[in-house]
Amino acid sequence: MVRVPRRLGILGGTFDPVHVGHLVAAVNARHELSLDRVFLVVANEPWQKVASRPVTPAVDRLALVEAAVEGVEGLEASGIEIARGGPSYTADTVAELAAQWPGTELNLIVGADAAAGLGGWERLEEVRSKVVLVVVNRPGTTIDATGPASPLEGWDVRMVEVPALEISSTDLRDRVATGRPLDFLIPMPAIRVIRQHGLYSVTR
Ligand code: ATP
Ligand code: MG
Repeated sequence: MVRVPRRLGILGGTFDPVHVGHLVAAVNARHELSLDRVFLVVANEPWQKVASRPVTPAVDRLALVEAAVEGVEGLEASGIEIARGGPSYTADTVAELAAQWPGTELNLIVGADAAAGLGGWERLEEVRSKVVLVVVNRPGTTIDATGPASPLEGWDVRMVEVPALEISSTDLRDRVATGRPLDFLIPMPAIRVIRQHGLYSVTR
């Protein structure tokens, strides 16, 4: 019999590529909030990004996340948005997981930068009604967690302090393209997938 989890974490992202900033946020949120598992949900079509830059095929990004979480207790790669296809809306993902796990508390983990941009999300009220919002710090963004001007007003919020890591996928894509090292910023098995699939670089 499958044990019903009491609390699940959802860390959605483009993961183009996944890096230790994502993983450190996920494992620390899991620890602080006693989450049974945290799903790293790979966006199929990140609708906020597709217009501004080419995004790596979703299957490759999923392969990177799978490699990165391999053997890490409590973290799982999720292809739920890829299976659904089309543009990825958190509202759909949360609805799907809520239906799959009735009675389980869903904890939506976001970095401070993503939390600051919540106002622009699709069907925000639907998301708000179904999740606990877990905000982790991220260098470069400070967020006002309380008060009427806060983007978090009205949400059930937990702030989780994680080691501040100034790492972004944007910088990592640039690193590959310019031949600078990825070591220790991305788990080694995921670096291997980047090399094997010839991702990001102009030349293989
Ligand atoms: P990009 O530079 O392409 O936007 P990214 O590094 O921001 O990539 P995303 O896939 O956009 O990665 O982020 C997914 C989620 O992980 C977001 O909620 C984001 O705030 C959070 N996150 C990403 N990097 C960090 C980090 N270094 N520390 C804390 N949270 C992070
Ligand atoms: Mg980002």
